[in-house]
Order: sequence, then C-alpha cells, then structure tokens
Amino acid sequence: MTYPYKLPPLPYPYDALEPYIDEETMHYHHDKHFQTYIDNLNAALAPYPALQALPLEELLAYPNLPDKARDAILNNGGGVYNHDAFFKGLSPAGANNHQPAGELAKIIDSAFGSFDSFKKTFNETALSVFGSGWAMLGLTPGGAPAIIKLANQSTASVLHMKPVVLADVWEHAYYLKYKNLRADYLNAFWNVVKF
Ligand code: MN
Repeated sequence: MTYPYKLPPLPYPYDALEPYIDEETMHYHHDKHFQTYIDNLNAALAPYPALQALPLEELLAYPNLPDKARDAILNNGGGVYNHDAFFKGLSPAGANNHQPAGELAKIIDSAFGSFDSFKKTFNETALSVFGSGWAMLGLTPGGAPAIIKLANQSTASVLHMKPVVLADVWEHAYYLKYKNLRADYLNAFWNVVKF
C-alpha cells in the first residue's frame, strides 16, 4: 500500500462472519475505524512528499520520521497495516480453511504440541493484552513461529515478522456483541480465521 491510501474493500460480505463476528461490528470496524486510520495517515503524510513515496512497510520502519509527525504516522500507519492484514486474515464462517494445513500445521504442532494447545496459548496471550492492542502468531525471518502482543497499533512490520494470525483485541473489535467478554470473542474468532 502507498500514499494516497484508500480503504481496501472487505473481501467477503459484511455478514459472512456471523454468528461469530456480527455484521454491525464489521460495518463499524471496517467502514469507520479502518477508514479513520486511512484518513488520518493521509493527513499526517500530506506535508511530507518524501515519506509519501515509501511503501507502508518501509514507512513504519523508517528511522528518521519527523518529530512533529512521528506519533500520527506510526499510530495511524500501524492501524492501516494491522487492519489490512486483519480483515484479509479472516474468511466466511463455514469455509474449509479455518485449520492450519501443510507446512504451517507442522510448524504449529512442532512448536506448540497441537493446534488446540496453540490456540490456548494464543488466547491466553490475547487476554493478557492490557488495554488496546493485538495478539499475533508471526514468523521470524528464519521461519520460527512466535506468539506476541502488539500494544495499540504497533506492527509486526517493524519487527520484520510475517503475521500469520492477527487478533484485534481493541474493544471496538468485539464490544457490540461480546461486551466485556474478550474470552468469548477469542473463542469465536477461531471459526473465522483464514489459514
Ligand atoms: Mn480494529
């Protein structure tokens, strides 16, 4: 993705993740929250033609962002990067790609013992995110899997990790349906993760 950033269309219908993630949440999350990160990133980059030329991943890892714009670029650029990966990382309820297969299944079994114990560890990590943030299964450049937390809109991009599973645990991702029950949202989440 590059400047000027545009909201990528949701790659499935808004109600495709029902009953696990509800249609109303998807409209707010994609059309309002994601759009706001896009708009705010474009606004933050408007005075900086040299930064506009960088692909998003390079922008997020760029060492010399101007002091005046650093927070706005990293917070909103991170929001764009994470939400793009998040929505692309889900697929309709009932699809046949909600379990890891092939090489990834081997990597998960080898690192975590089984898919079930991987999910348990992942959910514990996601529950332990204090405030707003993300839980992620990522692969290091060497291909090793790791479950990590990302605070606020921190990104895997800066760590040079490849996101494989990204769970948004900001309240806006689940509060309309699940209220304070983040654990229920996380249990439901696995029914719509795309592997
Ligand atoms: Mn979100």
